[in-house]
Amino acid sequence: MRPLKNLCEVAVIGGGLAGLAAARHAARLGRLVTLFEITGMYGGLVATVDHVDGLPVPGKFTGQDLAINLLEDARKNGVRIFDTGIANIDLGKRLTLTDNENRIHNPEAIIVASGASLRRLGVPGEEEFSGRGVSRCATCDGGFFRGQDVVVVGGGDAAVCEALVLAKTSRKVIMVSRSPLKAKREYADKIAARENIDFVWDSEVSAVIGDGSGVTGARVRNVKDGTSSDIACMGLFAFIGGVPNSQFVPPSLLNASGHIKTISGFATADSRVLAAGAVRADYGGNIVEAMAEGVSAAEAAARALSH
Ligand SMILES: Cc1cc2nc3c(=O)[nH]c(=O)nc-3n(C[C@H](O)[C@H](O)[C@H](O)COP(=O)(O)OP(=O)(O)OC[C@H]3O[C@@H](n4cnc5c(N)ncnc54)[C@H](O)[C@@H]3O)c2cc1C
Repeated sequence: MRPLKNLCEVAVIGGGLAGLAAARHAARLGRLVTLFEITGMYGGLVATVDHVDGLPVPGKFTGQDLAINLLEDARKNGVRIFDTGIANIDLGKRLTLTDNENRIHNPEAIIVASGASLRRLGVPGEEEFSGRGVSRCATCDGGFFRGQDVVVVGGGDAAVCEALVLAKTSRKVIMVSRSPLKAKREYADKIAARENIDFVWDSEVSAVIGDGSGVTGARVRNVKDGTSSDIACMGLFAFIGGVPNSQFVPPSLLNASGHIKTISGFATADSRVLAAGAVRADYGGNIVEAMAEGVSAAEAAARALSH
């Protein structure tokens, strides 16, 4: 392992909106900042969302618009960007980060903003047909199902937003949900106004069905009476919540669900490590909060540095 010259006072892990806002803000406060992003793509969960909702400014913004603006300004303010992930945090006397290329970094403070990954259904056929009908991005893949029927699994904001995107090009969108919609009222109203969105309530997908050409259907089980039926479809999109990206975080900083516990502001039990956004327990769930948490964590990290 090669130790790098320490150019890093604050390390930010994750290039979603929380991490980008944190890195940019810490740099604007005069700190030497390094940002690590595992995918080399910026914007995290909203990177492919073509109209982000809930911003406190009028206008239409894509997730990419926000990410690129933050990224460019972070760079202008001197943030060093590493297109690699962090594999381990060591909370020794000297904080040590190991990145996926086995390089060692010794920041004085760390802001973990590694967000969440979309939860998988974990049913037969899901992996087999991934990329052949099973997708996780309506904006990227909706066009492949133009004029076809697609299934969207879930009933929260993300599922409803993605169903609305798919409804523009698909013949029919069938939403499969275990419970009544949990999405915001305005989304529920929009979805009720679309004639080509149907619902299968009290149900979950128990298998993805397909053949050599890709997905041909979804097997659906009613959770109340246990009956099963098949829905014909060419595409299947599941948005059933997130799993925190925290595998590299010491277990002492995590709660039972794998989210980072913060005890004071955005600091963890080790005050040198802070957390912001979807990886943090008690995160509110929208991008305005993600960015605000990033900024607040940057303030706290910059204040805590001794010089
Ligand atoms: C389909 C969909 C649509 C949505 N639409 C909206 C909307 O319109 N409005 C709204 O307010 N909210 C929306 N949300 C919610 C919003 O996306 C999240 O609340 C927000 O993106 C969380 O930001 P984050 O930066 O905390 O995490 P993320 O967006 O998850 O970003 C985390 C980043 O960290 C990176 N990372 C992970 N592990 C590592 C590692 N080990 N090392 C380095 N980098 C790592 C990831 O690759 C990712 O880029 C939507 C969510 C989904 C799924």
